Amino acid sequence: MPFDPAVDIDRLPVEPGCYLMRAADDEIIYVGKAASLRARVRQYFGSTSDTRFFVGLLDRFLDRIEVIITATEKEALILENELIKRHQPRFNVELKDDKSFLHLRIDESMEWPRIDVVRRPRKDGARYFGPYHSASKIRQTLKLVERYFQLRNCDDLTFKNRSRPCLQYQIKRCPAPCVLAVDRAAYQQQVQAVTLFLQGRHGELAAELERRMWAAAEALDYEGAARFRDQIRAVQGSLEPQQMVGAREVDQDVYGLYREGGFLQVALLQIRRGRMVGSRAFTFEQQGVPDAELLSTIVNLYYSGGAEVPDEVILGVPLEGDAALVERLTELRGRRVALRVPQRGPGRKLLELADRNAEHGFFQARQSEAVRDGGLVRLKNRLRLANLPYRIECFDISLFQGDSAVASRVVFEGGVPRRDRYRHYKIRTVEGTDDFAMMREVLTRRLRRGLEEGDLPDLIVVDGGKGQLGVAVAVFQDLGVEGVDVVGLAKSRVLAGDRPDDAAPERSSERVFVPGLREPFVLKPHTDEYFLLTHLRDEAHRFAITFHRKTRTTKAFTGELDQIPGVGPARKKSLLLAFGSMTRLRRASIDEIAAVDGIGERLAQSIHAALHA
Ligand code: SF4
Repeated sequence: MPFDPAVDIDRLPVEPGCYLMRAADDEIIYVGKAASLRARVRQYFGSTSDTRFFVGLLDRFLDRIEVIITATEKEALILENELIKRHQPRFNVELKDDKSFLHLRIDESMEWPRIDVVRRPRKDGARYFGPYHSASKIRQTLKLVERYFQLRNCDDLTFKNRSRPCLQYQIKRCPAPCVLAVDRAAYQQQVQAVTLFLQGRHGELAAELERRMWAAAEALDYEGAARFRDQIRAVQGSLEPQQMVGAREVDQDVYGLYREGGFLQVALLQIRRGRMVGSRAFTFEQQGVPDAELLSTIVNLYYSGGAEVPDEVILGVPLEGDAALVERLTELRGRRVALRVPQRGPGRKLLELADRNAEHGFFQARQSEAVRDGGLVRLKNRLRLANLPYRIECFDISLFQGDSAVASRVVFEGGVPRRDRYRHYKIRTVEGTDDFAMMREVLTRRLRRGLEEGDLPDLIVVDGGKGQLGVAVAVFQDLGVEGVDVVGLAKSRVLAGDRPDDAAPERSSERVFVPGLREPFVLKPHTDEYFLLTHLRDEAHRFAITFHRKTRTTKAFTGELDQIPGVGPARKKSLLLAFGSMTRLRRASIDEIAAVDGIGERLAQSIHAALHA
């Protein structure tokens, strides 16, 4: 029997628990939790403005509501988290799984703790920091930690089996507890300093380092004092770009919200000891549940997923069942957590800032979507394509300074690069530098495989003019490819004409050659379709250049080392990994070379001698 609010609501229990909304085909479309199941479900069928959108969806999809009673509200929170993860209901918020983000991990229970990069925090007693949303941010942080705080970064197996320190020791990034007698208390102090640093407690850390610096100076340990001084500078340097936004010396997460119809944008500002250290944005569609319920679910999912729980969580609306949420967060953190809804003062200002961020994020997301979608439609119309070019593949043949030729394929989907689908093709059948023959080979290989696997793009772009396009069209005909558009994109040309000597040459616009048309389309600069196609072509060139550069570095590296007896392919690889370039290898000392895996003292001497002969 379909759910009838007039009759069924009164049959629901008043206890805490979770409710599961199901569609007629049994799909769970929404999961929620409540202190009183009956009161909560009743809210949906009232007429408050923030439930109206959701009620519209319920009219269309809801068939029945099931409930699970729990002993406490806190249990309902835990169950909600599990049910959402298991069923992923279409109208629930789904926080992007944090496995795509990185965390830093330090297990202080180890004798010589190391700093690790991990995808997902586990309940293993270790400390986790993050999530870090960009690989470059985490690299930057690790670099700073290694350089100034010198914790080991090797895995446990390597640590146990070393017979002498590795390169990290030679370059003063690790005191080598693997084999040397290192002062354990001093190492632990470094671990604590790193922990404070990663927690963003920079003021506290700087004060502690200053205390240690003076203590070292008084003990006439000038080298130690200089090391602490450098650490203070590093900590202070990392503070400069961050503004003081909060007045209190506590860790706070502030949730701002912006909604329009079913669209919802959440901005999370991470404030550590008064400084903004990061932010996250969540975009949701078809979200019509009341703000309080939605925020409660987001907060529950976010921290249950392993994110670091701060001292305070700041929200714009009071939550029903906030005591249970506080209890849950306190349990996750292991220390008291406060949930605040500030009405005035600095907390309110932070909330306004978070709300503004959410609003800005909302428009930015909509805008880039509109540009991309609009760009695809305009590209289709402008070039008279048969398909909306959702998936575009661009092929480019390149030859750099005598290197062998390589073909590159870059892929855009929905107007954005899909770097995981880029690839290089080694030319197999063409001798010399016949561009057209190479393009023929590569397109034939790509399209033949696509036909076999049923995996073809909407549009193929070949880098070049009429000639390259002619080759592509011939391949399409040979293989019987249908339903895929193809165009040639020719670079802008320098135009002839009288110009003053020092004037920049005048260039034609980018031109697109389309099969069956004698004259190319000229792309107007600053249009969406211009940006899209030139971005595609520039990506293809960038991808090809990276390949050639990498090949050349490897060739130069291995070429010079070829002459040195005892250096085979495996050792060349280890040296390349350790130093990255011949210049750096040449600058290395014998000890540094000897520290590379597989290179002993004697071989290091021969390598050093050969490179400095
Ligand atoms: S010197 Fe190298 S192997 Fe030894 S502890 Fe440090 S990082 Fe690990």
